[in-house]
Amino acid sequence: MNEDLECELLIIGAGLSGLSAAYEALAYAKDIVIVDENRIYQGTTASTTAKITAQHGYIYDDLIKTFGTITAKKYYEFNTRGLKRIEEIITKENIACDFQIVNGYLFAYKEEEEKNVEAEARAYQELGIQGEIVKIDTRISPHKALKLANQANFNPEKYLKRITDILLVHKVRIFENTRIIDVYENETPEAITSERKLIKAKRIIIASHYPIYKGFNFYFMKMIPQISYSILSGPTDLEIENANYINTISNPALGLRFVKSDEGRLLNISGASHDAKTFISYIKQAEFLKEYGKKNFGISDYPYVWCTQDYTTTDYLPLIGRVTKNIYLMASYNKWGMSTAIGGALVIKDLITLNYSKFAHILRPERLKLNKKIFTYNLGMIGTLLKTRNIPRRKIIKLTPETGKVTKLGMKRVGIYKDKNHKLYLVDVTCPHMRCGLRYNPIEKTYDCKCHGSRFDYTGKLLDGPARRDLYKIEIEDVKSYLNLLNENK
Ligand SMILES: Cc1cc2nc3c(=O)[nH]c(=O)nc-3n(C[C@H](O)[C@H](O)[C@H](O)COP(=O)(O)OP(=O)(O)OC[C@H]3O[C@@H](n4cnc5c(N)ncnc54)[C@H](O)[C@@H]3O)c2cc1C
Repeated sequence: MNEDLECELLIIGAGLSGLSAAYEALAYAKDIVIVDENRIYQGTTASTTAKITAQHGYIYDDLIKTFGTITAKKYYEFNTRGLKRIEEIITKENIACDFQIVNGYLFAYKEEEEKNVEAEARAYQELGIQGEIVKIDTRISPHKALKLANQANFNPEKYLKRITDILLVHKVRIFENTRIIDVYENETPEAITSERKLIKAKRIIIASHYPIYKGFNFYFMKMIPQISYSILSGPTDLEIENANYINTISNPALGLRFVKSDEGRLLNISGASHDAKTFISYIKQAEFLKEYGKKNFGISDYPYVWCTQDYTTTDYLPLIGRVTKNIYLMASYNKWGMSTAIGGALVIKDLITLNYSKFAHILRPERLKLNKKIFTYNLGMIGTLLKTRNIPRRKIIKLTPETGKVTKLGMKRVGIYKDKNHKLYLVDVTCPHMRCGLRYNPIEKTYDCKCHGSRFDYTGKLLDGPARRDLYKIEIEDVKSYLNLLNENK
């Protein structure tokens, strides 16, 4: 975007949230603009495992204990509405996106977890959710599982490609590589791009994964970044029921589903999640999933391995709703963004068109639940921040092509990446958000912030999180006195 513009509705972020919000907005807004700082639907949505479900681990037992049955029931209803809506859209628009209705299973991986499965089953009963305790394929787990029928999964990229085409037919303007750095509401809401262009809109929906709006609330205190891993096998003829399988309590956690592809059925194993602040080997977490796949299904080859981050709130409910008169937010889905993004788009539509949503109260973004999690996370942050700044000073940096490392060169914290042509990329790995030191993520070839989840690619380009600018590039001349260290390994 290279000029100022005005529109009726501005949507910031073109992941599942932003594009779903735009699709729903076709019913009430004529002039819609979408901006994304990168390519459309290449953020977290591109890395999802795409189980569309209202079965989110042990959420109902937790919600009943924390908030009571009314909130727990509404959460179920909100997610089921999202699931139903996506099925409706896929049917109406005739979208070929490998959508399939499957059973969902929440399984105990260890015997001692069966009591949690039973507690969640009792919560289902209390809320009137039709679940039953069953046994699943013993190769996944020999222990009890809680079945919830009529859940789903799909291919979000195929889905969003079609949704984007529909938006374009309706003359929605979509700008890629356009970063918003500030959003505020004076007389009307306004957004400013990093190129200092102004967008005036009657309404703004922030769907940027991490909220940009600073004027409101301390999101960084109540949004906890969590990293999850995922692996995908080649074609397999494993005879296991095609379903969504999740275990969210074990350490590490597990999720399984089958993926349709032109080559056949592929097995996707995901999980091994941890808070971003945990100093843990990315490679080892992915290895855990591979080991599980090898031991339990005899599959040792996983051509695709990736990891991404999603935000969880300290009270496990997403942040969706109105933040000022004409600015709305959709964020923090606790790794359950499929039903939540679609359901969230409906909540925003209700708030705009009816000035009411029955779910608004439980999802309201301004809430701050003071609980143990919020205190431990934030009090521990000073320690995390100090730990991240302690970047190792390396005497020798060995880089094979397509690898990177962080080190201290003199007083500078430097990330060095060598591409396949041996070209070096040097960036200052100090997070622009709160000056934490970044760590290299060898799976995604990114620099990740362990404090609040900002992430950058190896060229320094911002990908996610509260930071609002790219990393500073470092010229080789700036670290000339250390050059022999670099040349040595050329
Ligand atoms: C490994 C993994 C597995 C998962 N599996 C599941 C699952 O099975 N089921 C499920 O329900 N959920 C799952 N999730 C969660 C789900 O994928 C996410 O919650 C969801 O994709 C978030 O979508 P989004 O549109 O909000 O964010 P994104 O897809 O990240 O989109 C946000 C967009 O905003 C853009 N943006 C950011 N800042 C700016 C800015 N300042 N200006 C302009 N644009 C900006 C970004 O470039 C991006 O394109 C999983 C998550 C992970 C990490």
